[in-house]
Amino acid sequence: MEGKPSESGIAAMADHYKNFDPTTFFQNFVSPEESRLDKKDSLMSWKLSCLHRAFSEGDMKGDLLVDIGSGPSIYQVMSACEVFNKVILTDFLEVNRNELKLWLQNEGGSKMDWTPFLKKVCELEGRSPSEWTEKAARLRQVVTDVLPVDVHRPQPLALHALPPAGADCLVSAFCLESASPDLATFNRALGHIGGLLRPRGHLLLIGRLQENYYFVGPGVKIPVVPLNEAQVCDSLKENGFTLIRLEVYTVSQDETIGASDQERIFFVKAVKSLKVWKKR
Ligand code: SAH
Repeated sequence: MEGKPSESGIAAMADHYKNFDPTTFFQNFVSPEESRLDKKDSLMSWKLSCLHRAFSEGDMKGDLLVDIGSGPSIYQVMSACEVFNKVILTDFLEVNRNELKLWLQNEGGSKMDWTPFLKKVCELEGRSPSEWTEKAARLRQVVTDVLPVDVHRPQPLALHALPPAGADCLVSAFCLESASPDLATFNRALGHIGGLLRPRGHLLLIGRLQENYYFVGPGVKIPVVPLNEAQVCDSLKENGFTLIRLEVYTVSQDETIGASDQERIFFVKAVKSLKVWKKR
């Protein structure tokens, strides 16, 4: 992959994130999805279906799943929590980690209502939507930690945060391309998080294709690396992953919101190969 990771670019990205507002993020990217959950072809329904399918295929097993760059969100682990006994959520920003903790504490401090999304995942699992309370309780039970992460560090989590063998599964949604200033840095960051995964562990990666920016607070515009499918596939290969499946969702006209120029979203299921990890 061409070019070198840019340390000044990484510092500039961290600067952009200083003004990230979890509430605005939720209002811009999560709340609008609620009314579209009944439609088969809405972005959130598609993401939840892809995640549900990935976790119900029976090949993703183990004890520990780590979600990288959770933001204030939990939709990405709603299916996972039925398969894995331990889930660690992570984010770069304390404001996001605090938001997650509020939801986990369940003491009324969280203003983010995930109920419709929990109901939807229950439906996908063939359960009654009214069982969402059980799913919420299960999720709160399996999340053992909410940790700081920086995908630009060779060791993204604190030392000893994970068992020596690594995690059995990684999920990461809309993080790497929105935390990296360029393709080379995205590629290296994928290698860093891959180092947290045990050989033959699975990676579920969700991200934006050909997006240039998104808004996460009033006037807070964050640049995004505009990726294409081939670059995502090359980066996976270069970092020791074997692709199982790549799916693409095209955002429809009525779904487009001014908060980003997102048009296409990818979902990847991949497995870490047994080969010795490449030295950089
Ligand atoms: N996964 C969530 C949030 C995506 S927003 C969802 O799908 O809703 C992108 C996230 O990347 C933000 O929460 C931001 O704090 C995080 N991020 C930014 N820089 C990062 C870095 N260097 N390392 C890890 N995460 C980072």
